[in-house]
Amino acid sequence: MPRQSMKRGRRPELMWGLGLPESVVRQIEEGVGPGFHVRNFADGAYPVTRELEQEEKPSAAWIPWSVWSGFPEARRQEYRDQDETQRILIRDNGADLEMDKVLAEGFLTVVDLPLTRPKVQDVMFRAREVKSLYSDIYRMTEEILLERELLARKTDQLMFLNKLMTSATESLDAGTILANAKESLGLILPVKMLNAAFWSTGANEGADVEIFLNGKMPPAVESAWIEQIMASVGSMGAGAVNGFQVSLVDPARRQEFSLAPDQGRLVTMPLAAGQQTFGCLALLCESGYRLGKDQVETLRSAVNHIGLALRNALAFKEVKLKADRDGLTRLYNRRSFDERLVYEIKRRSRYHHDLSLLMVDLDHFKVVNDTYGHKAGDMVLRKVGEILSTEFRTTDLAARYGGEEFVVLLPHTSEECAWKLAERVRSAIESCSFCFEGRGFAVTASIGVASVEGASLSSTDDDLVLKADKALYQAKNNGRNMVVVSGHKQPTARNAVQ
Ligand code: GH3
Ligand code: MG
Ligand code: MG
Repeated sequence: MPRQSMKRGRRPELMWGLGLPESVVRQIEEGVGPGFHVRNFADGAYPVTRELEQEEKPSAAWIPWSVWSGFPEARRQEYRDQDETQRILIRDNGADLEMDKVLAEGFLTVVDLPLTRPKVQDVMFRAREVKSLYSDIYRMTEEILLERELLARKTDQLMFLNKLMTSATESLDAGTILANAKESLGLILPVKMLNAAFWSTGANEGADVEIFLNGKMPPAVESAWIEQIMASVGSMGAGAVNGFQVSLVDPARRQEFSLAPDQGRLVTMPLAAGQQTFGCLALLCESGYRLGKDQVETLRSAVNHIGLALRNALAFKEVKLKADRDGLTRLYNRRSFDERLVYEIKRRSRYHHDLSLLMVDLDHFKVVNDTYGHKAGDMVLRKVGEILSTEFRTTDLAARYGGEEFVVLLPHTSEECAWKLAERVRSAIESCSFCFEGRGFAVTASIGVASVEGASLSSTDDDLVLKADKALYQAKNNGRNMVVVSGHKQPTARNAVQ
């Protein structure tokens, strides 16, 4: 520790004396040299609370034992509480003072009269050393406390990010990721609502936007949000937008919201992967909150993680869509159908609801190919795909089973209903007129229907397909362009003119 000069520029440093004889004041002043001012309080005029609380604190107080020992304990304590002042005890009446008693009384040191120059300088030197030691300890304690608080905050932030990352990677469904993200972000932000948008990137023909709203809302509020989000989408460089579609974040929770974008503090953050922004989060927070600088950093890395998880989810959805679908008709493919059939049979064996299956095969399709060409055949298949995807509910599953053969799985559908639906499909196909390279033609289809109803013995997945296939075979045998229900001898539709 550097020894500080006792000399001070400009303002002299204040010291107190309590009831010191004039001679002693002079000895002190001589000892400390210029730059100090000793203010001596006479007996009966010792500083009380008012002086003790004044702004300029003396760096030292010289107090004779004769004065100190006359003070009541409360008064002594008042002096001891003055942290900035070093108390120096002057043994003036030959009292037999032990050093530990002096220290216990809160004194820095004790000096005997007369106060010679070296004695005064030695005391002052020690006072300085102690003071700078104290201030070092004080500063270090402060630093440790600060460090500890920073560490605690860092730990909190790490725990938060860890929780967020875990919950973000738990699912490959964008809605679920957003619902989890809202919960995790709630730990550092007063989030009331979390809405989001994603847009297709890299397409020349304009972006399709998918908006996720936190829950159901009244139409006016929903419009306000859509407008707000589409404005953000535009400002984040999505380019020209074709249109948008709205989904709900985590529909399972069925939350309802009536807060408009202006009913809180709106924080919009871009979602990016690499250099490309592919979406944004729109967080509605409680108004008037403020984030610290490091919290902003944490929020930013949290949103980066959420962005990556969402990017994965969107890529997965795209891949899955490709893997699940047939390229020509965009209907589900055979593999998706097989999986779904197993699932529906299992579900049926528990709940005993009706389950029906249609098997559709185009009639004399080979002739279409042979006469009009493969491309014409493809066109017909695409059209049939369109018919099948529009005729049924979203819970039904229409798939291309192979070649010119299609299947439709109908949960909760009785044999009677399935037959009616089959008839509708048959008739829709029959009434389509096709035209290829100037030549018009029509196609027909034969359909086999199989059902399991109510509590009837559960069938296996193979059973149902086999039964529908047999019924289809029967329809073909009976003249085509008709629906045959498995187990029924009579065809249920008229034979059309071939
Ligand atoms: P049936 O009434 O007995 O079902 O006669 P069909 O001619 O429809 O049956 P067949 O099984 O003899 O012929 C099926 C034809 O379907 C043969 C094949 O060229 C055609 N086909 C299968 N897949 C495709 C396809 O992806 N595109 C086109 N254009 N034709 C296909
Ligand atoms: Mg056929
Ligand atoms: Mg066939």
